[in-house]
Amino acid sequence: MRILITGGAGFIGSHLCDRLLAEGHHVIAMDNLITGHTRNIAHLAGHERFQFIKQDVTEYIYIDGPLDAVMHLASPASPICFDQIPIQILKVGALGTHKALGVARTKKAVFLLASTSEVYGDPLVHPQSEDYWGNVNPIGVRGVYDEAKRFAEAITMAYHRHHGVTTHIVRIFNTYGPRMAAEDGRAIPNFISQAFHGRPLTVHGDGLQTRSFCYVSDLVDGIYRLLMSGVSEPVNIGNPNEMTILELAQLINELTGNQAGIIHRSLPEDDPKVRQPDITRARTLLGWEPTVPLRQGLHQTIDYFRNLDANQ
Ligand code: UDP
Repeated sequence: MRILITGGAGFIGSHLCDRLLAEGHHVIAMDNLITGHTRNIAHLAGHERFQFIKQDVTEYIYIDGPLDAVMHLASPASPICFDQIPIQILKVGALGTHKALGVARTKKAVFLLASTSEVYGDPLVHPQSEDYWGNVNPIGVRGVYDEAKRFAEAITMAYHRHHGVTTHIVRIFNTYGPRMAAEDGRAIPNFISQAFHGRPLTVHGDGLQTRSFCYVSDLVDGIYRLLMSGVSEPVNIGNPNEMTILELAQLINELTGNQAGIIHRSLPEDDPKVRQPDITRARTLLGWEPTVPLRQGLHQTIDYFRNLDANQ
């Protein structure tokens, strides 16, 4: 297949490029590098089946030649970005998804949308299954991301129903691994960076809010299975192994040997209190489930950040 990946230089996008190339596909990665980075795809430079185009996907997208699939991953996704670049987040979810769908329709290509567990907001149903409609504050600071992705799902389904485009929607839950940006602001890269500097880990609130962390190779495997499937309804991909943020911080201090402990900071607005994917649909329709244990994934992530530090 010849596949366009928007956000191809991002954390997840670049791992997806690797997987698609390993499966023998041709990959065109598109990224404006606002949160993605060329270091994530530097190892692919010169690969005969890989091409990179630096472009903002909210602008008209022109691709020469045929395409079999368009995978729309472009979007800032870190809570820091919700404050700093809210308009770009809304634009890439709305205008960018529209452009990416337009390419898919023109090329008669399959379309896959990277959506998010954030469509469930601060959930009132636990764990979250795909038929839950969510509890989102549209005017809160997180609303720029949540509502952009909800719009993206709506326009994807409209192209599916109205234009007959073959579409897939993956709802990605918290994912971690190598190539996350150290300055990303999310819990795992933040805690690892703080631990490397011998500083206390900043736990927001009492730290009893929960998340369920999925290693990136597991996520990419789920996305690939979804792309190759006939499933058009949204599918949660994430690891149901739920823990509190306090437990996560303690584990990272243990794995890094950080003696500085933990300090508490105020809880950001609308921070979801719980999150755990119900992955029954992924299990039954895609035969998928995560395999990488948290400690192993964290070791690999810690090694990545250690090497990054050493090379800077
Ligand atoms: N968090 C924290 N300290 C940090 C960064 C994040 O306690 O230095 C908390 C954050 O408030 C949230 C959880 O960790 O409750 C997961 O945050 P992250 O930004 O990784 O993902 P999201 O909130 O989007 O699930």
